Amino acid sequence: MADYRKMWEDLGMDLETHDVLCEVLPQAFSDVYLSQKNRPEGMAFYDFVVSEIHGVRPAELIEHQKKGGKVFGTFCIYVPDEVVFAAGGISTGLCGGSQFWVPGGEKALPQTTCALIKASVGARLDATCPFFKIADMYIGETTCDGKKKAWEVLSKEVPMHVMDMPQMKRPKDFTKWEEEIKTLIEVVEKETGNKVTPEKLAEQIKVFNNKRKALKRVFEARKHDPVPISGKDALLMIQIAFYDDPVRAAEMANKLADELEQRIKDGVAVFPKGTKRIMITGTPMAIPNWKLHHIIETSGAVVVAEEACTGTRFFENLVDESQTTIDGQVKALAERYMKNNCACFTPNEGRIEDILRYVKEYNVDGVIDVNLKFCTLYDIEGRDVEAALKKEGIPVLGLETDYTDTDAEQLRTRIGAFLEMID
Ligand code: SF4
Ligand code: SF4
Repeated sequence: MADYRKMWEDLGMDLETHDVLCEVLPQAFSDVYLSQKNRPEGMAFYDFVVSEIHGVRPAELIEHQKKGGKVFGTFCIYVPDEVVFAAGGISTGLCGGSQFWVPGGEKALPQTTCALIKASVGARLDATCPFFKIADMYIGETTCDGKKKAWEVLSKEVPMHVMDMPQMKRPKDFTKWEEEIKTLIEVVEKETGNKVTPEKLAEQIKVFNNKRKALKRVFEARKHDPVPISGKDALLMIQIAFYDDPVRAAEMANKLADELEQRIKDGVAVFPKGTKRIMITGTPMAIPNWKLHHIIETSGAVVVAEEACTGTRFFENLVDESQTTIDGQVKALAERYMKNNCACFTPNEGRIEDILRYVKEYNVDGVIDVNLKFCTLYDIEGRDVEAALKKEGIPVLGLETDYTDTDAEQLRTRIGAFLEMID
């Protein structure tokens, strides 16, 4: 990795503790990723990004700030990035996916909070992640209770705007979400000093639709048997797309999709035809959380889809590009984002419909419903998800885990037994 120490020092990071993270990540990445055989060449870009994870993109964000630009940190796929970019800002996903940050979060939050929230808070409080330090403002949302309270902790550290998410999907909830998007426009306009015009918003709606289309192309290739890409690699692409420049994210995903389509034509695969095909559903897997994919793919199966925010929910459904006024565009944005089926909504039947549809589309042999420990929303909803799958005769395994490795062997045993049970 290039030398970014001066940049980290200037950001006020705790370099000594950060060094520990910098030491362990390359080995973990090598064990999980570089050990895979016959990976697509297009993954070289993503490997490079991980090798420079706290350097290359943070340096770009700082460059943007030097030119007077603003950076906004986000934590949820409901936050419409289009608005931030239309104001000349940059948004970057901040969700923490490493156990490394969890103890820091536990200093401010109950231990019984999900690891994603604890890691996100810990990364900021411990000053061990440049992205959390760079952001001029965080944009939170009122999705789950843990996040709502975490925003109060983080707002003592950094300017915070919280979007009030509807919890239902009635017509008046769509109107409310439109109002929230309009408020976000005002907030980013004030912070950046730039006006969100219909022209700029139209441009960004196209940019983000293009990114969604590109990510979807990679997922389309995963429908093929044998699969031309591992689930681990597809997950890495999605995780990086959360915080990378959206134009580059689309370009790299399209390049990867070109290669995968060619691999399908040439009969090149990463797992033999007939390998058991698993879909994961449940809570998000923020970078560098690769635990479950790694266990599944070193147990003789392959992950072919993720019905999660780090999966289909991130790119399914496009924003209507035909609107030419801010009101029309905001409505179109609200409609697209409200199509996401997060367990924070009640009822949330659309998610079960999605899962059953994807099982067919991705030719899935079994579903693993994973819950991040202490996430009550997905834990409760998991019961209905599993019942719906069983009713359709689809093998399903419910698992609960966190960011530690202490349950890895136990998970391996349970996953192994599940795979044996699938015909
Ligand atoms: S699971 Fe729900 S709260 Fe979490 S990122 Fe996805 S939409 Fe947002
Ligand atoms: S995993 Fe669950 S508890 Fe954690 S942030 Fe997402 S919705 Fe909230």
